[in-house]
Amino acid sequence: MLRIPVAEPSLSKKELQNVTEAVKSTWISSKGKFITEFEKKFSSYCNTTHGISTSNGTTALHLALKTLGIKEGDEVIVPNLTFAATINVVIHCNAQPVLTDIHSDYWGIDPEDIKEKINEKTKAIIPVHLYGHPCDMDPIMEIAKKHNLYVIEDAAEAHGAEYKGKKVGGIGDIGCFSFFGNKVITTGEGGMCVTNNQEYAKKMDILKNHGMKPDKQYWHEIIGYNYRMTNLQAAIGVAQLEKIDEFIEKKRNNAQLYASLLKDSKNIITPMEMPWAKSVFWMYSILIQKQFGMNTTELHERLLDQGIDTRPLFYPVNIMPLYKTIGCDGSFPVSEKISREGISLPSSVTLKSKDIYHICKTIKELEKQ
Ligand SMILES: *Cc1c(COP(=O)(O)O)cnc(C)c1O
Repeated sequence: MLRIPVAEPSLSKKELQNVTEAVKSTWISSKGKFITEFEKKFSSYCNTTHGISTSNGTTALHLALKTLGIKEGDEVIVPNLTFAATINVVIHCNAQPVLTDIHSDYWGIDPEDIKEKINEKTKAIIPVHLYGHPCDMDPIMEIAKKHNLYVIEDAAEAHGAEYKGKKVGGIGDIGCFSFFGNKVITTGEGGMCVTNNQEYAKKMDILKNHGMKPDKQYWHEIIGYNYRMTNLQAAIGVAQLEKIDEFIEKKRNNAQLYASLLKDSKNIITPMEMPWAKSVFWMYSILIQKQFGMNTTELHERLLDQGIDTRPLFYPVNIMPLYKTIGCDGSFPVSEKISREGISLPSSVTLKSKDIYHICKTIKELEKQ
């Protein structure tokens, strides 16, 4: 039976052409024309002045925190519902992640809850634009300004999403993106930090390259990392970036079709788009209420029997024993409920309308039984 995947990248001739060109040029490591081109074009797409490519989205986040001087004894405010990398990078800085609940409508960090978590140790906030929907950035930036905190946007799932007409990633001090295979655009593995601050950009360039002084080879004045992207990855990125607006439109159209087909089902809640937001619906994720008749694990299995792949949402950080042991504890009713009831439906840009009709029809048939 034909299987509908949850996410697959859309690759075409241009990616192959660019990679071939990079191979033929022999510039396959982390220098080459595609790297500078990708950094320039992606940062300008985000309306920022600097783009610093990295080996993946996690190293982009770590690089941002290190550049802003996050260290032992500091606290960083993070949402309780996110991919673990957001939390792990704080721990890699020997700082303490401080969990915060999310907003029930758009699933991003709740500004009201942030206020409660601030003390003299707090140094930064990491809003995560979860599943492609932007966080409510105005109140977050206001809180940050008032308490002198950095804002690092985790935009790994939200390339091209907009908050009040502004692209995410360019609103806080540094914005971090991932180009993993299932993200809005991909380079296989890859990441990027964007910023309008030249000083941060310079420091990130040095830190990601072993901490080596740019004008004095093999001279180090700072302990760095190798977080570089290769020219091969950037070659794919340049080709993907040409299609980003087309991809986003396709994802938004998919979302609209899903919503119209599922709206008459009382036990399913489809994702919202706030009046101030343009979501890119990275993964189209719905909530399954109790009265539906089965939980999300069962629904996943029954859909898989029909050749339809789905994915659970992230687990709330606070329920994982690992994170409990390092002080990530507490009660977060909104993120716990959304994680329990949520399931991501197939969301690739390669998805056909007839696939979406088939998926929605199958879900509704399961609901009736
Ligand atoms: C994918 C993702 C990351 C990590 O990106 P990688 O490229 O896989 O390292 C970080 N944060 C969020 C929210 C993500 O979805």
